[in-house]
Amino acid sequence: MSHIILRKWEQLKDKIKEDENDLNSNSLVYILLDWAKEIKSIKDIQIKQLYKDFLERYEDLNIENILYTGNVIWYSLEEIIKFDILNSNVDYYQRPIVKTRDILFNILAFKSDKECPCCGDDNLRVFVERNSERLFYECDICLCLVDENGTKHEHLETTLTFASVSLIKSKNIKPSPI
Ligand SMILES: [Zn+2]
Repeated sequence: MSHIILRKWEQLKDKIKEDENDLNSNSLVYILLDWAKEIKSIKDIQIKQLYKDFLERYEDLNIENILYTGNVIWYSLEEIIKFDILNSNVDYYQRPIVKTRDILFNILAFKSDKECPCCGDDNLRVFVERNSERLFYECDICLCLVDENGTKHEHLETTLTFASVSLIKSKNIKPSPI
């Protein structure tokens, strides 16, 4: 069954090649979410588990509310398309699933200008506690997790999801300059 994923990844690449000049972050996100839906429909236990581990979190997101379309510097759409997708070297069936998760995460998780208090090497991503407006910040590199008061958390009982752009703006959080 695993070869199905690699075949579907090639189909995704073809689709992206066709649309390459018209893509923006919004259309790319929807193409990847459609691809994730195809993966979800594959009837294979291992693939179902991979889907659950990596892509299920991206179901039912309100993309219009969470996709930041301002001047983004923390990723380059051109580089994502060129290096992460079209010229990607995937020889193992798990890779396209993990890659798709990584790209969606990078585009959808707002990267703030707040420096990580734990490693100082990166800026923090902004998340919100599900069904509340309580924000949390997490570092991509060391996974340091802090709340709005700067208190570190080792472990949370609640589930975090992507914060909406309106909430981020209302708290006057600025995008990462790097
Ligand atoms: Zn860090």
